[in-house]
Amino acid sequence: PNRAKCRQVIDALLDAHCDFAIFHFDIDKFHDINNTLGHQIGDAVLMDVAARMSDEAKLLGTAQIFRIGGDEFVVVCEGVVDRDAAIQAAARFTALFLQPLHLLGHEVVVTFTIGAVLCPKDAADSSEALRNIDLALGMAKRAGEKRQTCFFHNNMLEELAERTKLIGGLRQALERDAIEVHYQALVDLRTEKVVGFEALARWNDGGKFISPAVFIPVAERAGLIPELGLRVLMKSAQQAKAWFDETGLAREVSVNVSAAQLMHVGFVGAVAEVLKSTALPPQLLCLELTESVFVGRAVDTIRVALEEIKAMGVQLALDDFGTGYSSLGYLEALPFDKLKIDRSFLLGVHKSAKKMDTLRNIVKLAHDLDLIVVAEGAETQDDLDVLRTLRADIVQGYVLSRPKPAVEAWPLANAIDEVAEKNVSRRGCAA
Ligand code: C2E
Ligand code: CA
Ligand code: CA
Repeated sequence: PNRAKCRQVIDALLDAHCDFAIFHFDIDKFHDINNTLGHQIGDAVLMDVAARMSDEAKLLGTAQIFRIGGDEFVVVCEGVVDRDAAIQAAARFTALFLQPLHLLGHEVVVTFTIGAVLCPKDAADSSEALRNIDLALGMAKRAGEKRQTCFFHNNMLEELAERTKLIGGLRQALERDAIEVHYQALVDLRTEKVVGFEALARWNDGGKFISPAVFIPVAERAGLIPELGLRVLMKSAQQAKAWFDETGLAREVSVNVSAAQLMHVGFVGAVAEVLKSTALPPQLLCLELTESVFVGRAVDTIRVALEEIKAMGVQLALDDFGTGYSSLGYLEALPFDKLKIDRSFLLGVHKSAKKMDTLRNIVKLAHDLDLIVVAEGAETQDDLDVLRTLRADIVQGYVLSRPKPAVEAWPLANAIDEVAEKNVSRRGCAA
């Protein structure tokens, strides 16, 4: 039974005023099974899942199963009146897969992410039911990598409306070229001079700036990241080149690259193209990646992409270190030049010997791995003192400069350099 049959059954049950639950079972990482074990095994998994589930449905007598897409199965369970009953009903089906499947000489572990709706509460017809179950499944997928179950809630509709509005606005912003780049100084802790800037995207929505923390995740999910990311990269590279040509000062620009962007086919080629068309010396470009890039991907695939980028002479930084998996394996295996320590490690460091030790150890570890240490989010002179004592290399934070439009960022950087020079001559005099 397919999607069309599924709709018929849902509409018939709703017309008959029945209580029932609908579950959307989505096989976790099915494409990994296909890719690593081959399509023959993939097909065998689907057949096995379908067979086990329909046997269980027949046994129950009150459930029906449908295959509505590649690895997507829908189970409709009658007589389910509330969440608890629904959880029990779903568990009967997931329990069928507690043991690995043995297929064509392979052992395959199958787990599911599940979206659930309760009818008639959550839907008036099959279209609404299938839309709402998709929202629930989407939420379950975002909640974790696997084995999540999520029930539909009315809030999800509000979020959907909000997101749809945001995506529309973002598309227009891209068309109107309303994504701007602001620059925040990166300062060498020894010389106290500005060595570069982090490029931070800003959405100028009619004079009001929308934070990248809001629109980047939306852009990722809407598939707009490759385009948006490339615009930011191009603008930043053009700006860095213009500054370099005007002043001869080799200040680099460090650009954020999201996971979806790095894995997009053609990303490496796009970086090469940006370097070529702007004629920016490659060593003046750094790309910042967070650990989310690695989640669920083979290190080897990422290494190939990163090594190609490195071979162009571009620098690589691991961003937000300490907030994700903080895997030392990645640090050793991948060609990073810099480690950016997340701001959370600096917060409250003065008051806690334990935090101080942690920060000291991260700096030491990074240095042992020959990485340049960049500390993010320094907000006070005390922060700077701590970082100097711990021998971090580069610092970025509001105490030195907030992210600013290019016209303001450069003079601000020059002012920081002037103070540094005065400090040096003052110290020279004192000595
Ligand atoms: P991030 O890469 O960790 O960037 C640093 C963030 O910390 C920036 O927030 C910056 O304004 C903020 N920050 C800098 N110094 C301080 C400080 O002293 N105190 C505090 N409290 N915050 C400080 P912003 O600009 O809002 O960006 C948020 C995030 O959005 C970035 O975090 C980055 O992950 C993402 N992002 C920004 N631009 C882009 C982009 O062009 N592409 C992609 N993929 N992501 C971007
Ligand atoms: Ca960053
Ligand atoms: Ca960061």
